[in-house]
Amino acid sequence: MAMPQAAAYTLDVSPGRAAAVPPTLRVRSVRKVFQSGKRSLVALEDVSFEVAAGDFVCLVGPSGCGKSTLLNLIAGLERPSQGQLLLGARTITGPGADRVVMFQESALFPWLNVQDNVEFGLQLAGVSRRERRTRSEQYLDLVGLGGFGRAWTHELSGGMKQRVALARALVLDPRVLLMDEPFAALDAQTRDRLLLEVQRIWQETGKTIIFVTHNVREAAVLANRVLVMGARPGRIRAEIPVSAPRPRELRGVDLLGVANRISDELVDEMAQAEQQEREIAAASAAHHMGVRARG
Ligand code: ADP
Ligand code: MG
Repeated sequence: MAMPQAAAYTLDVSPGRAAAVPPTLRVRSVRKVFQSGKRSLVALEDVSFEVAAGDFVCLVGPSGCGKSTLLNLIAGLERPSQGQLLLGARTITGPGADRVVMFQESALFPWLNVQDNVEFGLQLAGVSRRERRTRSEQYLDLVGLGGFGRAWTHELSGGMKQRVALARALVLDPRVLLMDEPFAALDAQTRDRLLLEVQRIWQETGKTIIFVTHNVREAAVLANRVLVMGARPGRIRAEIPVSAPRPRELRGVDLLGVANRISDELVDEMAQAEQQEREIAAASAAHHMGVRARG
């Protein structure tokens, strides 16, 4: 879903925000049906799981299994057809500053420099200029971009753009950081480096992270727990804990076993997803041939 990230920012800066008990995210028996014309598509079916505060969870699954849909539901950008999503005691009914999404495309504003991009959400929330500067510098340092505040986004590599997007998300101090295949478009070396950076940032900030990927090894590197999703309608098929010491690297031998376990869970699902795509294509082709034959 292409949606400018800034639209999701409604920053709650009220003093009562810091709760005594960090909230757990709960996804309860969620079903999501998309309606397009007369056809309805069940994207998610009976999805339930919990993510404790400070956990790092990866969602892995074949293309089209509903990973982005699930992330959008947690972000409050979509509403469930059935079931419930809660953060702590509160039902998620829309976007909020406690949950921020980072997408594959950094969606930075080209007319703003790096620092102003990072400060955009804070400015919307009415944070003073001075406070904004302090915070943006802090988070640009955190993502390894100290000194780049005045740069224009078109001057940056893909990897640096994603670092800016990460700083822009973190500067809002969300409780939950939602990442939807943020490194999928980057070259291998850049991605390797960013996977290390994300682990470091997670350890330094203690954020709850839910990271979507279709890359098994990426999931094994990042997650404390990998939730493997099945072909449509998306469900959680397996949960695989990863306890290897950090920082982990893609080429790490100790992760091969975990990656293989995830792959084993995925094999059938991949085949099923491919079969579904074939059926849709065949139905579409038959439809068009019918139209042509009649016409
Ligand atoms: P993934 O991120 O795992 O690749 P998505 O969550 O994007 O999968 O999509 C899951 C399914 O729901 C797909 O079949 C997709 O075409 C469908 N879908 C997603 N968003 C919409 C929408 N807004 N309207 C109709 N169908 C949608
Ligand atoms: Mg997706």
